[in-house]
Amino acid sequence: MTMFDKLTQERRARLTAERQLDHRTRELDAALAQLDTVRRELHRMRQQGHTAAIAEAQRSAEVQSRAREDTETAQRSAVMAERRLWDSVNTIRDGFAVFNRNHELVIANQAYLGVFSGYPEVQPGIPYRRLVEILAYDGRAQLDGVAADAWIAAMLARWDSDRIDPMILTFSRGDTARIYDRRARGGDIVSLVRDITESQRHAAELEDARRRAEAANRAKSAFLANMSHEIRTPMNGVVGMAELLCDTALSDEQHLYAETIRSSGEALLNIINDVLDFSKIEADKLTLHPEPFDLERCIHEVLILLQAGARNRSIDLLMDYDLFLPTRFLADPGRMRQVMTNLIGNAVKFTEKGHVLIRVVGIEASDGQQQLNVTVEDTGIGIAPENIDTIFGEFAQVEDQANRKFEGTGLGLAITRRLIELMGGQIWVESELGKGTCFGFSLTLPLAEDAPQVPAAPIRLHHVLVADDHLINRTILQRQLEAQGLAVTLCASGVEAFEAIDRPGANFDLLITDHEMPGLDGLDLTARLRTAGHRLPVILLSSSPAVLRDHPAIGELRAILQKPLLRHDLVRQLQRLSNPDGADETAMPAAGPRAPRATGGRRMRILTAEDNRTNRLVFSKMVEGLAIDLSFAEDGQQAIEAFRQTKPDLIFMDISMPEMDGRAATRAIRQMPGGAQLPIIALTAHAMAGDQEDILAAGLDHVLTKPLKKPLLLDMIRRYQPDGVCAVDAVLDQTG
Ligand code: ADP
Repeated sequence: MTMFDKLTQERRARLTAERQLDHRTRELDAALAQLDTVRRELHRMRQQGHTAAIAEAQRSAEVQSRAREDTETAQRSAVMAERRLWDSVNTIRDGFAVFNRNHELVIANQAYLGVFSGYPEVQPGIPYRRLVEILAYDGRAQLDGVAADAWIAAMLARWDSDRIDPMILTFSRGDTARIYDRRARGGDIVSLVRDITESQRHAAELEDARRRAEAANRAKSAFLANMSHEIRTPMNGVVGMAELLCDTALSDEQHLYAETIRSSGEALLNIINDVLDFSKIEADKLTLHPEPFDLERCIHEVLILLQAGARNRSIDLLMDYDLFLPTRFLADPGRMRQVMTNLIGNAVKFTEKGHVLIRVVGIEASDGQQQLNVTVEDTGIGIAPENIDTIFGEFAQVEDQANRKFEGTGLGLAITRRLIELMGGQIWVESELGKGTCFGFSLTLPLAEDAPQVPAAPIRLHHVLVADDHLINRTILQRQLEAQGLAVTLCASGVEAFEAIDRPGANFDLLITDHEMPGLDGLDLTARLRTAGHRLPVILLSSSPAVLRDHPAIGELRAILQKPLLRHDLVRQLQRLSNPDGADETAMPAAGPRAPRATGGRRMRILTAEDNRTNRLVFSKMVEGLAIDLSFAEDGQQAIEAFRQTKPDLIFMDISMPEMDGRAATRAIRQMPGGAQLPIIALTAHAMAGDQEDILAAGLDHVLTKPLKKPLLLDMIRRYQPDGVCAVDAVLDQTG
């Protein structure tokens, strides 16, 4: 090998080596570049990773601090709330404590702990028993005379009961508390001790004020009762004399004066009665005195009394008493009459024309009791809707021009409502202004056991003609007659009735006709029938039989019946007509105003005991014209003597008389032969509750209150007219 070759070889080898170096360098550069990238990447990554961790750490630090703040806030407000609650519980004057199921104190406020001051042991954990012992043994509570041990036992037993009743405890330091203990969940007991010292003091003051007011009220009632008596007695003379004066021959002017004295006197008496009753109701002094009485008759009597006023204004007073309803009940007759007088009186007062209709219906409520519904319906001025609600209030008069011309105290309905409520009933009113008003009440009353057994005398009539221009009256009569098994034909006028009877083939057994009818009235109808040769018996219905004396047809009547009609009177007349001999098969002494009458016989003997000369005069004038023998006694002793000598059929007995009063005289007469059954009727000016009961307890049969009312007086006389004496009533004598 040549040097060249060697050189060439070497150069080649160098070139190869250089190439290899170059290659290696490039490889190294590439690797370095890659390393740099990785490093940069690593750096970047490292940088990134660090920020996230810091952010994460920051976030969690924030959350933690917020949570800490929240917790602190919550804790602060919880502490505040608890403090506030507890401060409040501590500031109230009422004691508050909680005990656990073992009856150990858990917590209590200052007011609760206050009573145990000086006892450091009184702290949470102390047993209830120990607290009670401190109260009892240390005299911190008033035990009202109970021994300490017994009191403690009772207090502990109280907590053992299922429901712990509230109790009142007075502490020796002077305050009084009502203690309420309640079982809470888990057997805890929460105790609330309410301070009632103030309210008790207030109640005591009220009680004291009430006692004083009651005493004043009693004094007022007594004063009113005395005044009432003092005023009534002379008023009796005024009203009675004025009434008699009205019946004498007077000029129109004189009659007006006398009538004004009479009506003013009556109005004054009504006011006295209202005020007296109202004050009694106010003072809760009004008591009821139930006794057997006849409801139908009671309403009838009220109607008779109010009839005069109604007649002046051509109002018809009608009564529709349920046919199948008994009439005798147990109730306070005086109060019942007062209710009816007020309602019917108002109806008459506020009605110019039309009618006032009293309806009584009833259903059997339970054994021996009837539920009654009584309505008084009128066709008067009515009451505006805005006044309806206040109408039963005191002094509630509808203040308008249409109304104020009527006198009254505005107490009547308030009294009526209270009376009905006292009897356990309810009262209501419906009204339409300008059309009319209907007052109604419902009551449950026991039936009177003394209800007389009415012997069922046969009625042998078949067909009755009724003539009355008033539709409601015709309907009532029709129902009453049909209930007796009679065929009834109704006519609305006298002319119509005449034609019906005069028609060939007419076969009526009886005509019942109203007196006052337009055109042909009842008496003219009777006269025309007789002239035409019809002998059909006629019964006349009249609201004022006494004024019929002079009509020539009077003698043709079989009977005159007082309107509104008592069913009982009607049935009796039908029975009498059915008996051809005219003898009454159902004769009963107390059978009603139109008792059977004989033409001959002695007169009824009436004894009246009355110390006051004016009252004797009033009495004798009121019965003037009756076919009776009247004698007077001036005190109780004289009455007994007169009873022995004259053997009267009926005695009217004044109650307050000097020497021996009416009660004592009655008791004595009841012991004497023939005295036990004798009807004795009290005359009294007393109006206080209890008077009536006293009087009846002394053995009198009825009470008539002064001033006497002629119709009621006559009703009593007729009612007790015995069989076999000549008729007391002059008018009826002519018609019999
Ligand atoms: P007063 O003594 O005034 O009649 P009441 O208490 O009996 O007192 O009646 C109160 C008022 O109710 C009457 O003044 C009248 O305005 C009204 N009132 C009562 N009944 C009727 C009636 N039937 N029709 C119209 N208004 C009546």
